[in-house]
Amino acid sequence: MMRGVAILGSTGSIGASALAVIARHPERFRVFALSGQRRLDVLIEQSWQFRPSAVVVPDVAAAQQIAARLPAATRVLVGVPGLEEIAADSRADTVVAAIVGAAGLLPSLAAARAGKRLLLANKEALVMAGRLFMAAVAAGGATLLPLDSEHNAIFQCLPAGPREAAGVRRLILSGSGGPFRTLAPEQFATITPEQACAHPTWRMGRKISVDSATMMNKGLELIEACWLFGVGEELIDIVIHPQSIVHSLVEYADGSVLAQLGNPDMRAPIAHALAWPERIDSGVARLNLAAIARLEFAAPDPQRFPALRLARAAAAAGGDVPAALNAANEEAVAAFLAGALPFTAIAAVVEDVLEGWSAAEPDSIAAVQASDERARALAAAAIRRCSEEG
Ligand code: NDP
Ligand code: MG
Repeated sequence: MMRGVAILGSTGSIGASALAVIARHPERFRVFALSGQRRLDVLIEQSWQFRPSAVVVPDVAAAQQIAARLPAATRVLVGVPGLEEIAADSRADTVVAAIVGAAGLLPSLAAARAGKRLLLANKEALVMAGRLFMAAVAAGGATLLPLDSEHNAIFQCLPAGPREAAGVRRLILSGSGGPFRTLAPEQFATITPEQACAHPTWRMGRKISVDSATMMNKGLELIEACWLFGVGEELIDIVIHPQSIVHSLVEYADGSVLAQLGNPDMRAPIAHALAWPERIDSGVARLNLAAIARLEFAAPDPQRFPALRLARAAAAAGGDVPAALNAANEEAVAAFLAGALPFTAIAAVVEDVLEGWSAAEPDSIAAVQASDERARALAAAAIRRCSEEG
């Protein structure tokens, strides 16, 4: 069967990896639609290679800029309505949600409501609106397949049937610890964006690279796992594993622990989810354990990485607290990448916003967006205070 695929955020790191897997299997997948925000040249290149029926760009000006440079059969749509349209179009049965941050929420949700095979990389959507998002998946009859390597690993290690009956005791998320795992705490204040974006084992977009460096990424993944697998945060452990070979683990009642291993390359979880329940070639180099020789594990360091504590507290608090955490983090990371905030202030800004936060249970996406905006305003004020003091 030929699957039509829409890739939301095709010009990014996940988008490029998804296209690399698809290009190996032209008999299985047809690219129905692509989208980009700023890297329009990349979008044009991808369009000539994959000949999508539609592309989505941010606005009319961008559409006018690229229309004449695309294949004649490719329609150009704009903005969030364009993204929602390609996510729900019947010509795509598979949607890869690879937009970064809160901007991915509405398009990812449109795919869930339309009952797609939804390959989710956009973890921020689940962090912000987990309960409503999972309800939309259920109501739309969507099949939610995690692309995040840890969650994809857990998905592979879980039994197919009801989990409780199968005796699942704990989920264990692994994380590399990022580039500053062993950096002396007093050196954290002078970390630059370039240092933060140089991840030791993964090549990723800048926002998630900074999240990996603060370990907020592991915190967001903790919340993501709660929703994906329907468990409380107290049943999820985090373990540091610098080699990024063991992608995560599931512990069973009898003491057995199942893990998924592989080289750190996002094409593996993407190929898994694209073909699931079948298996296809991903292009990832085969794992050579003898050459790797050593796999190390350690507990995360709460002193270097306060973001982990903040995210766990947000997961435990529930309601709109994770949405506030996510929004504050996005603002702080953007300020750090712009050179306007020191690295150590990222977690401090998030903590500042959460300290004064009065939690509520959002009953609609509009309510989630209101919480998101409120948290961004508080974060902006905290960032201003930081730069005045600094
Ligand atoms: P990138 O920054 O590389 O790509 C993000 C994509 O989203 C690009 O196509 C970008 O367009 C688009 N985009 C950015 N802002 C907007 C916006 N406001 N509206 C619409 N589209 C937008 O990020 P990654 O690919 O690294 O990450 C994507 C998601 O996947 C994130 O949620 C991340 O947490 C998750 N993820 C990523 C992993 C990785 O290995 N990279 C691993 C696990 C999860 P353009 O580039 O044209 O501006
Ligand atoms: Mg991950």
